[in-house]
Amino acid sequence: MPTNPVLVVHGGAWAIPDDMVDAHLNGVRNAAAAGWRALERGGSSLDAVEEAVVVMEDDETFDAGRGSFLNRDGKVQLDAFIMDGATLRGGGVGCVERLRNPVRAARKILSDSPHVYFVAEGAERFAAEHGIALCRNEDLIIPREVDRLREYQAQHSTGGNDLFAPEISHDMLSHDTVGAVALDRQGNIAAATSTGGTLNKAPGRLGDSSLIGCGCYADNLSAAASTTGWGEPIMKLVLAKWAADRVESGSLPEWIAQEAMNYLKQRLDGHGGIILLDAQGRLGIAHNTPRMAWALRTKQEEDAGITRNG
Ligand code: ASP
Repeated sequence: MPTNPVLVVHGGAWAIPDDMVDAHLNGVRNAAAAGWRALERGGSSLDAVEEAVVVMEDDETFDAGRGSFLNRDGKVQLDAFIMDGATLRGGGVGCVERLRNPVRAARKILSDSPHVYFVAEGAERFAAEHGIALCRNEDLIIPREVDRLREYQAQHSTGGNDLFAPEISHDMLSHDTVGAVALDRQGNIAAATSTGGTLNKAPGRLGDSSLIGCGCYADNLSAAASTTGWGEPIMKLVLAKWAADRVESGSLPEWIAQEAMNYLKQRLDGHGGIILLDAQGRLGIAHNTPRMAWALRTKQEEDAGITRNG
């Protein structure tokens, strides 16, 4: 029996300032519209999450694709992951510097490769060999981020130490990662997450976003999840899989999304957000930060916001 499609997207969890709210809402709404179009055309949940994430990678509001945070060397380094809940196939790229839309390369890995991950130059070579144009790293850098890095480095000389300056709130250094989860008419779910990582990160630092089960996971038997927030605590807790496992055990995604945020906070003082969707179309959207940009589409409902708990 055909299922009614569902799509949820997020554009990062943090204290989004008032003057940036409109740009975030606009961005997640556009992403949800693109993903929804894919589902309405009869596309798969994988198509929907890919298209939704591409829109946010192209939107400079977000820390994904062009406009991402710069690393310590002043370069954009991107991570992305996409996963198919029907087959458990996944595709991920890490530390890529010459891809406008890392999620497209991740999708190619999922569909055209026996492997799950490619990183750095090998990932770029794989993408080019599979018809994805490479760009220059400079094409991904915008003046706002050059200024942000300069200001940060002037104020917080870390002396080559990779640790965050203790007086800086982590949520100012890691925000605006993007992600999507979807359910298609065939009853299959999928998830995708894409990020530029954290401000002033050490070159080669890989965050949670592209790590299977941490920033992204999908299994028709449990749930599709995309997380965002300070990556190191999220990956230590394998949070996306933690949440999906609890849905498989019978708990509602709405409740588990909130529990995941409580667990993140209580166990490691982490901050972030999660979107969670099961193959019956039940969903959860939660964050333990002041705000998170999200948007949702179902047959009956079209909604977006910057706060939502539970
Ligand atoms: N989780 C991302 C990272 O640590 C950042 C974010 O979600 O805002 O790379």
